[in-house]
Amino acid sequence: MKNKKLKTGVTAMLTLSLLASPAVSPVGAEGSGPEVNENQQVKIESLTSNEELASFLQKVDEKSDSISVEVIGQSIKGRDLNLVKAGNDPGNPTILMVTQQHGNEALVTESAIQVIKKLSTNSKEVKDWLDNVNVLFVPRLNPDGAAGDVDWDSSHLQFGGMQTRNNAAGINLNRTHNSLSQPETRALHENVLRKYDIDYAIDFHHQIANRVTEDGELVSGALLYPTSTITDEVLEKSRKLGAVIYNEMDSKGYGTFARYAEGGSLTSNARNHFATHYDIPTILFENRGMTDSPNTTSILGQKSSGYLIKQGTDAMLSSIEAIADGSIASTDVSVWDTMPEQYTADGEEE
Ligand SMILES: [Zn+2]
Repeated sequence: MKNKKLKTGVTAMLTLSLLASPAVSPVGAEGSGPEVNENQQVKIESLTSNEELASFLQKVDEKSDSISVEVIGQSIKGRDLNLVKAGNDPGNPTILMVTQQHGNEALVTESAIQVIKKLSTNSKEVKDWLDNVNVLFVPRLNPDGAAGDVDWDSSHLQFGGMQTRNNAAGINLNRTHNSLSQPETRALHENVLRKYDIDYAIDFHHQIANRVTEDGELVSGALLYPTSTITDEVLEKSRKLGAVIYNEMDSKGYGTFARYAEGGSLTSNARNHFATHYDIPTILFENRGMTDSPNTTSILGQKSSGYLIKQGTDAMLSSIEAIADGSIASTDVSVWDTMPEQYTADGEEE
């Protein structure tokens, strides 16, 4: 009788916790291949929630002398959009890092959190960097999508829209940099891009997981410089920033990095818009896989989330270091001539 009661209690608790936080959730990639099953999915609850991100940033703002955080606007659902500023010398170059314009591209925000944590320490290395470079982060530009809190039907998505690419209005934020029709991109432009003198930018995304090179090797990430109308100087500096990141990925053995497949001259996306309209040398960084997608082969597995977060972290840190020590100026851009192209292994593009 006692046992039975206990069992019932446990079952009730499990049922409640399942209701509160669904057990099967998005994200995660497999080092060995794109195959996924339920057990391999990255748990959404293992990712930093909007509430946890807000409380983390508040703590950093309070405790760190070198970092300040300000609210630059609100999402459609009223969530704060944050700007994190590390280093504060107007005489130094400034780099901007934007993550998660697409809510289902979560691990790059985890990378930003790791880098912000590191920059909040008082190590000699960090001090040397921040004496020579200012770093701006806009982590998770699409918090509503990251929470799956949207006003459109997302039930067709693999996990029922626990995280969505588009914002609460169903709009792809990375096509609104010309129109500024959405509050999220408006906040970024009005309170960051037009307010700060930015020398470099990286726009962090995730791409579908089944990208391969010509010889069938899985791609762990991809890079691209602006392909819109830009000055020679902006193009050259963009290519140098991309080469810094590529060399870092190559030296760490993260697997194959490729040149992102789609170029195009539209300036509604951040990569092209920043470069064309603000003359900011910019790189698109694509990490592997997504947390929620209608395409099963796009979904990441839990096992590889660690190295994918590390990839993003090292991309950020290597960029900061190369700008701080000035080595970016002499970085060889010929890697762009030999960087593998990527293809979609199977299935339809999203
Ligand atoms: Zn994206």
